[in-house]
Amino acid sequence: VANEGNTVENRDGVTRNIPMDAIINLDHGDPTMYEAFWGKMGDRCTVEIKGCDSLSYFSNPKNPCWFLEPKLEEAIRSLHGAVGNAVTDGYSIVVGTGSSHLVNAVLYALTSNHQPNEPNQISVVSAAPYYSAYPEIADLVRSRLYKWAGDARQFEKDEPYIELVTSPNNPNGVIQGSVVNRDGGILVHDLAYYWPQYTPITSSLEFDIMLFTASKCTGHAGSRIGWALVKDKEVAKRIIKFMEVTTIGVSKESQLRVAKILQFIADGCKQFGSPQGDNFFEFGQSLMKKRWQILRETLKENQMFTIPKYPLQHCNFFGDVTNAHPAFAWMKCKEGIEDCEKLLRGHKILARSGRRFGSDPGFVRVSMVGREDEFNLFIDRLSKIQSFNNGDE
Ligand code: PMP
Repeated sequence: VANEGNTVENRDGVTRNIPMDAIINLDHGDPTMYEAFWGKMGDRCTVEIKGCDSLSYFSNPKNPCWFLEPKLEEAIRSLHGAVGNAVTDGYSIVVGTGSSHLVNAVLYALTSNHQPNEPNQISVVSAAPYYSAYPEIADLVRSRLYKWAGDARQFEKDEPYIELVTSPNNPNGVIQGSVVNRDGGILVHDLAYYWPQYTPITSSLEFDIMLFTASKCTGHAGSRIGWALVKDKEVAKRIIKFMEVTTIGVSKESQLRVAKILQFIADGCKQFGSPQGDNFFEFGQSLMKKRWQILRETLKENQMFTIPKYPLQHCNFFGDVTNAHPAFAWMKCKEGIEDCEKLLRGHKILARSGRRFGSDPGFVRVSMVGREDEFNLFIDRLSKIQSFNNGDE
């Protein structure tokens, strides 16, 4: 019934009421599902910042990354150690305003040694379907140093290039490696989703440049904190240089808040099945698992869309065999429906067209990390798409 409220008791005990005919926006991967966990933790991660705190530009003048708060560095190393997803020994850490800032910085750092008299900008590629922000980031300021060159699988030039490797991939959740594999290539690994709630952790990675973000790890997208683990100190210096020139560092309030949050979840990793429910990744994985199960059941019923299947793998973090539960559902419409995004929009579901990811409009990306009430309404509407096509509506 139009306008009737969809009352949902969330895990945080908060009851919301969203109108049944509300438009639900699942276009962005806004990680609000984690509010439920942080709500339960109450004041345990509250950070107090007094008027006299953190006035200086500097955090640690002895560190080449002089604007990195020592507590954040410690928490990042401790979290990767506890999760086992990336090696940090021997790596420099550079903090950024979200990992988006770091993608910009890394492109600068890897191309700024390029001679200005060389005619061509360095090509930036990524395997389609690729994260839709990469082309925008690479081409926004029409740099003389680099330019977006599209799908890595179509890249045929015999020239230096940068390949952005996103694993698990946004939009489709697939674990992947580089595809060009040619001399003169530099790889940047965007590991925003390489956390146990999304995918089995199968090894501790040691790539030259690895990007992570609090946004997708803990859900604190609003704090805008990302970090790069960088093997080569000279490359790290040039990333730092970009941060100096563009923003003179990164907000200390954000760093201190995220340091507290990361240390809290690193400590919580030591306990599994704790009655207080302190293990953040257990919470995250169980909620993602439940959502994916509901989505699969709904799509099985309505036969309108297909979604990828993910292999079972041993997860070193959970110590058992599990499959992936990605942050996005990469949905393909059944034959005959050309524009999947438009179909969903007609049912008041906003999602991102496959076109934006260098793929085709028969695909659409839907966020799986929103609030419970939105997710429930999404599922409700998906099942209605079936009844519409059966002529019941
Ligand atoms: N990389 C990937 C693959 C992402 O999906 C995102 C967020 N959508 C980012 C980087 C950037 O995240 P943030 O700037 O919030 O750290």
